[in-house]
Amino acid sequence: MDHQVIDSHCHLDFPKFNKDRDDTIQRARKIGVDQMINSGVDPKTNISSLELSQRYEYIHATLGFSPHLSPEATDERVRQMLAFIEDNVARIVGIGEAGLDYHYFNSNAERNRQIEVFKQVIELADRYNKPLVIHGREAEDVALGLAGHLDKVIFHCYGGDLQTMRNIVDAGHFISIPTLVCFSEHHQEIAKEAPLEHMLLETDSPYLSPRKGRNEPAFITDSLPWISYLKGIQEMDIAEVTRKNTIRVFGL
Ligand SMILES: [Zn+2]
Repeated sequence: MDHQVIDSHCHLDFPKFNKDRDDTIQRARKIGVDQMINSGVDPKTNISSLELSQRYEYIHATLGFSPHLSPEATDERVRQMLAFIEDNVARIVGIGEAGLDYHYFNSNAERNRQIEVFKQVIELADRYNKPLVIHGREAEDVALGLAGHLDKVIFHCYGGDLQTMRNIVDAGHFISIPTLVCFSEHHQEIAKEAPLEHMLLETDSPYLSPRKGRNEPAFITDSLPWISYLKGIQEMDIAEVTRKNTIRVFGL
């Protein structure tokens, strides 16, 4: 590729990359993915995300706490997670992923606990003026209501409705388009409607592969022809504008 692109959300520290992590990273770099943002989801991956960001100058870390964990998490565990983020806040480019997941959690008790934990994470992002990376599956509007007042918010792997997408953008925030856009009609509709100035790109590797098997940051290039076709904008400009957006919102 003659242009560079950023993968704004991946999990290169996950075990799926244990056998070929460095090869995977170099493959991405070679094809033009010049920077990657690796997001922690729990105490263990927060540590490994930090380690990755120290080993590679072009990999940045965000530290978070997945909403999948909060229904079961004790107050003490939540306190420890927040303290770890706070202790390392100078070494990270953002906080998250954190948020809500109403797809996997149906009960009011579970959802209320997610909200309770999320509010504490939001407060931390606010206090340190860090961008917040939100996982808001099937609760995007609720998440926006809770975090919309922050300076910088990124809805990672956005899959909500178009109206909420517009509200996010109107509030000055960002949506991140995953490689799902290569095969999901709903994500194609989002990519078509979302203004490029508020768009980031991500793979969410190792998940959501546009090819068979494991996803990896190099495959972000699969999204470019799709988004280019959907928006009628050249691939080069999609790569460049989303790259600039990512650099600006995360202060890379
Ligand atoms: Zn993720």
